[in-house]
Amino acid sequence: MKGISRRALTRLASALALLTYAGGALADPAQHDVLILVYHRFAASVTDSTTVRTDTFRSQLRFFEDNGYRVVPLSDVIAWHAGRQDNLPPRALVLSVDDGHRSVYEVLWPMLKGRSVPVTLFIYPSAISNASYAMTWDQLSALVQSGTFDVESHTEWHPNFKTERARLTPDAYRRFVHDQLRRSRARIEGELHRPVRLLAWPFGIYDTELEAIARDEGYTNGFSLDAKPVTPQSNAMALPRYLMTQHCDMTCLRGMLRNAQAHHD
Ligand SMILES: [Zn+2]
Repeated sequence: MKGISRRALTRLASALALLTYAGGALADPAQHDVLILVYHRFAASVTDSTTVRTDTFRSQLRFFEDNGYRVVPLSDVIAWHAGRQDNLPPRALVLSVDDGHRSVYEVLWPMLKGRSVPVTLFIYPSAISNASYAMTWDQLSALVQSGTFDVESHTEWHPNFKTERARLTPDAYRRFVHDQLRRSRARIEGELHRPVRLLAWPFGIYDTELEAIARDEGYTNGFSLDAKPVTPQSNAMALPRYLMTQHCDMTCLRGMLRNAQAHHD
């Protein structure tokens, strides 16, 4: 032991302990590929950049089934992320749909009938039963009652928080954010009689101030558009999701799922 100080040995021991710990921490998520996908609109033909064609969506569902991916409820992934349960299948996928477009009711729901494919919707109440492109509260209610859909918050009217922060004084901005997050939750809970605890950030914009306000307003989790798999280390207030568009064909989808696996290797 000549030439090695006690201090160097202590350092080596803690480095080894850290390595062992890191190995243990990585061993668990390696068993899971957890991906959250986010869609917007569905139609037989593409009319805008956020629409996914029905035949594309059907072949994606088939691809998931054929390759061992299982669509699970978002609540299962949240419980797993929080360390409350570990019963996720090895390849877990979550489907979410943002904005409350009426094609969810008219096109997506009929496609999912007869399948066990849970979906979480993130909606902004100002559009519901109001904008011509959006669903009505009655339609949302029917979706929730079907047992396939969960409805969560996407703020009250889908503001761009970066623009609002530049426009308002710091105090007015904070009040504005509180108001957007509070009203949305209250309205959805009032209309659908279900608790709302999840928030999808409009345009995927979030930061530590927004996260703190969301926690303050009773949200347990937030969701971004950061295009990464969810791991136990992911930020609970900005869990990453993959934006799905018609441009993401089967090659793109395969690449995405391979990346998720590589992420754990
Ligand atoms: Zn949105």
